[in-house]
Amino acid sequence: MAKLSINDLDLRDKRVFIRVDFNVPLSPDGREITSDKRIRASLPTIQYALEHGAAVVLASHLGRPKGKPRTDMSLAPVAVRLSELLGRPVVIAADSVGPEVAKMLPKPGEVLLLENLRFHPEEEANDPDFARQLASGSDIYVNDAFGSAHRAHASTVGIVSFLPRAAAGFLMSKELQWLTKVTKNPERPCVALLGGAKVSDKIEVIQNLLKVVDKLLIGGAMAYTFLRAKNEPAGKSLVEEDKISLARQLLDTAANKIMLPVDHVVVREIKPNAPHETVTSIAADQIGVDIGPRTVREYASIIQSAKTVIWNGPMGIFEMPPFDAGTIALARAVADSGAVSVVGGGDSEKAIKSAGVSDRITHISTGGGASLEFLGGLELPGVAALSDKAEATA
Ligand code: AMP
Repeated sequence: MAKLSINDLDLRDKRVFIRVDFNVPLSPDGREITSDKRIRASLPTIQYALEHGAAVVLASHLGRPKGKPRTDMSLAPVAVRLSELLGRPVVIAADSVGPEVAKMLPKPGEVLLLENLRFHPEEEANDPDFARQLASGSDIYVNDAFGSAHRAHASTVGIVSFLPRAAAGFLMSKELQWLTKVTKNPERPCVALLGGAKVSDKIEVIQNLLKVVDKLLIGGAMAYTFLRAKNEPAGKSLVEEDKISLARQLLDTAANKIMLPVDHVVVREIKPNAPHETVTSIAADQIGVDIGPRTVREYASIIQSAKTVIWNGPMGIFEMPPFDAGTIALARAVADSGAVSVVGGGDSEKAIKSAGVSDRITHISTGGGASLEFLGGLELPGVAALSDKAEATA
């Protein structure tokens, strides 16, 4: 069901609590932001709220402080950067709840950034009293933190019980729009490209995508568990022995959809620039580290004729050139296909950047874990908690 969006709401003179994802990478001392991408991604929602006369309270987690305040995980540097980007003051609160915060609540046109939510263990415990305190003083809830929507925390789920309306911000809406489009109503042929280390991390995704896609192209270490399920050798490649029978079941039910690599780049020792060769059958002392060139051509040609491509996970140990070749080549193929392309997961995003094709990808998801759960057909708690548009606007 469609969810209420921030642009369905009258924000004038309302105080809006916006859950954002400011979980930015910081220098080791916690003073410098090394990428402000997540801050920029939330700007449309924050700017919209300000332009429409709202007072803005922002809340986020940062890192894993394990329920205790830590100066190296303070959101203070984020307030400074956000203020530069917005061109107006952003006040940072000393905490996320409590009497001091209550005294600092913003007026229309002002922005208050609460301190790291995870300084309190109650945030991740979805504690109702903590959620009530977060909500106190605000009139409306907006969630723009897609990357945290798979977690039922006080700021993503609990808080909704204490405010009359819960709407999606623009980033959240965009994520839901593209992920829903490619999984519920894709242009066909629809192709998924799945890679990465483990089958076990992506079982739900494989099972759910098999219901949706016309072809599922498998690469990365995941492929070796599938090869073993076909009684093909995988040498010393990463194989999940306890998932071989599941891989066999998946192949039995969807053999015509699942494609596996037909050649492999192998090494005898995993290290940068290790001597490597391309083989069609992996010997006992070899380790598969990338898909081979014939597989790249086969997969690229399927991608070329696709109208929709869903991609998650690298095709090899792409952090270690030259074993990034298969991943980079397919990143180019996805961009060149002109298909609606939705990419999730930090590694695939890095590959897209290295290939220099980011601007030709339809949607790069900002939430690795959340997008995987979505592709796995799971309902994200932070999305389920949002008001249904039809009910809220009736
Ligand atoms: P994931 O988080 O499951 O998407 O996995 C990403 C990781 O899978 C990356 O760090 C890759 O280096 C790793 N990976 C991909 N292919 C292989 C492979 N053939 N052998 C070992 N690790 C791999």
